[in-house]
Amino acid sequence: MTRTVYVNGDYLPEDQARVSVFDRGFLMADAVYEVTSVLGGKLIDFAGHLTRLKRSLAELEMTNPHSDDEWLAIHRRMVADNGIDEGLIYLQVTRGNPGDRDFAYPSADTAPTVVLFTQAKTQLADSPAAKVGISVISVPDLRWSRRDIKTVQLLYPSMAKMAAKAAGADDAWFVEDGFVTEGSSNNTYIVKDGVIVTRALSNDILHGITRAAVLRFAAEAQMKIEERNFTIAEAQAADEAFYTSASSFVMPVVSVDGASVGDGKPGPVAARLRDIYLEESRKSAV
Ligand code: PMP
Repeated sequence: MTRTVYVNGDYLPEDQARVSVFDRGFLMADAVYEVTSVLGGKLIDFAGHLTRLKRSLAELEMTNPHSDDEWLAIHRRMVADNGIDEGLIYLQVTRGNPGDRDFAYPSADTAPTVVLFTQAKTQLADSPAAKVGISVISVPDLRWSRRDIKTVQLLYPSMAKMAAKAAGADDAWFVEDGFVTEGSSNNTYIVKDGVIVTRALSNDILHGITRAAVLRFAAEAQMKIEERNFTIAEAQAADEAFYTSASSFVMPVVSVDGASVGDGKPGPVAARLRDIYLEESRKSAV
């Protein structure tokens, strides 16, 4: 089945979807994005993704082309037209096509480019990887300093992912000034003596929507949380490690730079948080 892709108000077969070569998303990575997961045909954590989208746009002085209701309607139609029961919706807003290449931003009346597409996935919730855990390597964090804005500048995270694959691992964790910032596309955690440790929010990391929800559920379940920096050595000596993202929910990490974490199997805290997150976010799905 050919996918239906959204481009600037039109719902098109994917082979008819077009964006200009002068689009600043293409030329300058001048664009922001969101990825929302779909379970049971409904949007998970949608309000959070919309709030972050608006923040990313505002930080880059880009116009938000739609109201919240319009964004929801577009997402819902994409789910329906593509028959998505389980999967992801990718949304990108660029500063648009000024008709030429120039470092300066175009005038504010240049319309932003809006693209959405879906990715059907099976086993997003019933994930085989979550049952056995995944392995990570550490790499230096060489990204820019505004990681709190969800831009499409994903070359370095792609390079990190390739370095992980080359090392026989699944993913990479970024390290800066001796401390883990986050994963290539996720927020990172360790568990030691029953305490969940994760880096505090700042411009150094993306403010994960899944992170916010998981920490809220953990607090509600009376789990202890410390928002502070941690090192790779601490992760290797931890009882558990895991990461969170909209596409993986809560994912156990069982090996860090070749050293087993805990007993090398997914731990009870990550498993419990994954269960709670899936249960609660299905309830609030739209
Ligand atoms: N950090 C980075 C660098 C990411 O790319 C992502 C995934 N978009 C996350 C954290 C997790 O954010 P979320 O839970 O909102 O998907």
